[in-house]
Parts: sequence; C-alpha cells; structure tokens
Amino acid sequence: MPANPPGYAQGTQAGYPPPIAQQIPLTNTYVAANTHTVVVGSALQAPEYPYNTTCPSCNAPILTAAEYKSGALTWIICVVLTLVGCFLGCCLIPFCINSTKDVVHTCPRCNIVVGQHKRI
Ligand SMILES: [Zn+2]
Repeated sequence: MPANPPGYAQGTQAGYPPPIAQQIPLTNTYVAANTHTVVVGSALQAPEYPYNTTCPSCNAPILTAAEYKSGALTWIICVVLTLVGCFLGCCLIPFCINSTKDVVHTCPRCNIVVGQHKRI
C-alpha cells in the first residue's frame, strides 16, 4: 500500500519533465525546418520576367523562357471572387491575368526548368 502512492507521485512528477525534454527535440526539428525553408526560399528567388543566366544543364548563357501557369494565388482569387458573388464567369478572370500566375523559367535550348517564381 505505501508503494502505490509514491508510484503515482513519481509518475506525476516524472510526467512533467519529459514534455520539457520533448520540447528540446522539437526545437531542433524547428531549426531543421527553417533550414529547409531557406532552401525553398532560394529556389523562389527567380524573377517574374525572363532573365539572363547560365543553364545548369548545358552551361550556356541563356535568356530564360518564362511560362505562366496557374498557381495557388490564381485559385485563391478565383474562390474569393466566387464567394463574393462573381460566379458567372468573372471568377475565371485570374486565369487570364499573368500577374496572378506562377512563372516557370526554362532553358530554351534543353527545356529544363531553371527556376520558378511563385506568388504564394
Ligand atoms: Zn540548357
């Protein structure tokens, strides 16, 4: 009988420190996620318009070919316009405007993707 109350007491006291100990690995995971975000952020630094660069595949100096594709911002504006009441075709306007679309830059020689410009 005396063994149970100390067991509960130790289990309760031991229950609080492990969450604190678990927060330390979570902090490390958060740092790793930040590092990954930095890599993604550098991939998003491609400008909106065609730019001069060196192709990583054919090593030629190129002017990228920009292709506009519907992205997250395009769909968000479409949904917002639909919710506001523009559901009779006006919600499709963002799909006709390049400034709401993502940009994919490709090499005109070897057609590989050199960079991307995402709105969101
Ligand atoms: Zn190339």
